[in-house]
Amino acid sequence: MLDIRRITVGAWQINCYVVSDENKRCILIDPGEDPAGIDEELIIPAGLTPIAMLATHGHLDHIGGARYFNEKYAIPLYVHADDVQLANHATYWAEVLRTPGITNPSQIVPYDSDSITIENFAFDIVHTPGHTAGGCCLHLKDKASVFTGDTLFFHTIGRTDRPGLDSGGGHEVLVNAIKTRLFKLPGDTIVYPGHGIHTTIDHEREHNPALLFD
Ligand SMILES: [Zn+2]
Ligand SMILES: [Zn+2]
Repeated sequence: MLDIRRITVGAWQINCYVVSDENKRCILIDPGEDPAGIDEELIIPAGLTPIAMLATHGHLDHIGGARYFNEKYAIPLYVHADDVQLANHATYWAEVLRTPGITNPSQIVPYDSDSITIENFAFDIVHTPGHTAGGCCLHLKDKASVFTGDTLFFHTIGRTDRPGLDSGGGHEVLVNAIKTRLFKLPGDTIVYPGHGIHTTIDHEREHNPALLFD
């Protein structure tokens, strides 16, 4: 039985999720800022052993804490192949956006497949470019849950307006990916976004204002 816990960290209030199994092994999803805080709040007190990190996309607020875990636990960060370059420019973007304390990851494993299975953790990968080129939603079927990063939020969708940073092809590409790929998931799937509160696929299909009129 898998367990999902959330912590919200950093200047962008990004949601980092820790998915753990009964053997106290865990996967970190979007290890953003304040890695020591994530470690001290969710990992050390629960006696968990991190075995890998998965990024929904390569933006600095979602991967900026990965290096701490790369080094402390000797675990890699999985990033979609099309976002590896972005992830390797986290320090650059941190300077541009004046967000200190963010570093480039030191060990990245590029992914470009329909699924990733690590020990007891099986994710289907739904590639949803638009916000970034390598933006993905990570479907954890065992928990009827999907981690949507900055693709889909409660009642809104990801930004596509910041030159260089939102490099995924634009608003229409993003809307199309959500409607034709992400919305193929079962309607009662719980959506755990990169920012803000959780929702469901059905709720967003019916009520998300950013999708209703496109
Ligand atoms: Zn983003
Ligand atoms: Zn974000």
